[in-house]
Amino acid sequence: MPDTADVVVVGAGVNGASTAFHLARAGVRRVVVVERSHIAAGATGKSGALVRMHYTNPFESKLAFESLKIFQAWSDIVGGESPFVRTGFIQVVAPEYEEHLRRNVADQQALGIDARVISVEELKRMEPWCDVEGLTWVAYEPDSGYADPYATTCGFLRRAQELGVEVRTHTEAVRVLTRGDRVTGVETSGGTIEAPVVVLAPGAWANRLLQPLGLDYGLYPRRAQVMIYRWPCGFNHRHMTYIDAVLNTWFRREGENCTLVGVEVGVLGADPDDYDETGDQEFVEPTRTTLARRFPVMADAPLRGSWAGMIMMSPDDRPIIDQAPQYQGLYVMLGDSGTSFKTAPAIGKCLAEWITESRPQTADLRPFRSTRFAEGQPWEDATNYGRARRTISR
Ligand SMILES: Cc1cc2nc3c(=O)[nH]c(=O)nc-3n(C[C@H](O)[C@H](O)[C@H](O)COP(=O)(O)OP(=O)(O)OC[C@H]3O[C@@H](n4cnc5c(N)ncnc54)[C@H](O)[C@@H]3O)c2cc1C
Repeated sequence: MPDTADVVVVGAGVNGASTAFHLARAGVRRVVVVERSHIAAGATGKSGALVRMHYTNPFESKLAFESLKIFQAWSDIVGGESPFVRTGFIQVVAPEYEEHLRRNVADQQALGIDARVISVEELKRMEPWCDVEGLTWVAYEPDSGYADPYATTCGFLRRAQELGVEVRTHTEAVRVLTRGDRVTGVETSGGTIEAPVVVLAPGAWANRLLQPLGLDYGLYPRRAQVMIYRWPCGFNHRHMTYIDAVLNTWFRREGENCTLVGVEVGVLGADPDDYDETGDQEFVEPTRTTLARRFPVMADAPLRGSWAGMIMMSPDDRPIIDQAPQYQGLYVMLGDSGTSFKTAPAIGKCLAEWITESRPQTADLRPFRSTRFAEGQPWEDATNYGRARRTISR
């Protein structure tokens, strides 16, 4: 274990990995990543990993779009096979949100995203198995899809290691060390590393590192589940990726002949050190029934598996990405809120730019600032699709 570094990154999830990669790519050589368990042991390894640009605000869309560019040029930028699968993406909303949908898509188009509002007749032409009863307009993104979250994280870390980054798994950051208003390093289970810059990307385990620093952002861990259904006889269509704000679900292809479905009703508080890593039996039938309301052919789809992972919610369900103003040298990616896989390539890039160039260049991170709660300005999207139906983990 090195006893000094330029930057210590805590957490080898996709955000820690992306940050380490981008730091190394920017020429920072002495970067150490410490991970309490194994690579992608947190939310990342369990992610649904949808890659879509559609958000109800332009700031997350921008991060998603900048990330898509990295996914699309993966072999040139990161190297190796791309973990991204382009499927096309559909955002379903209730007819009363048509105006919001149109405003959101217009914002996305202004960013350069290929996003379109299409009629359900057009959707039906592309996906004839989709039940569009009661719907009018949906958003369509031809370039979106999903990724393999584990391969994404390993890809970032492998290239980072080639560029000199040290990755220490089974090494817990016990405490962030400070002197006055500066960070000075990290005490780990494998020894102390002195460093002027520390990046915290510890997912659902964040509070135990934040508390001794006197930082309380109101973060709380939640358990999110997915279930996988085998396509039934007669259905063999490589369908698009969906977020469905009417049925409050989301789904995408998994492998050659399955569909992975998010179990939004099963998102419950839990202890990240003691939670059930498989899905709950009680949600198997309701999840299949919900999927079958959009794809009726799935009514008899056999269950093939399930899993659960821990996400970390912020009070306004949006991530906190910041240079913590209380401590020079402390950078944070916290409260992923179940939606920070797709944006991780750009989040890591922005954090690396902040560290090496004094400010993020790729995207505006001010909306993600940690002080928004203390300022009494938690995030609220005017063009949402109903708070009760808000995205949890996708
Ligand atoms: C079921 C599910 C579905 C999801 N679907 C999507 C989706 O479709 N699209 C999307 O964009 N997002 C989705 N998400 C959310 C996404 O997976 C997360 O936002 C993202 O993976 C968070 O990455 P991270 O690196 O910030 O945190 P994590 O992946 O949680 O990584 C944190 C890491 O830090 C380590 N760690 C913690 N404390 C310490 C310590 N003290 N010392 C050392 N190491 C430490 C942990 O072991 C862990 O490996 C989903 C999540 C789940 C669970």
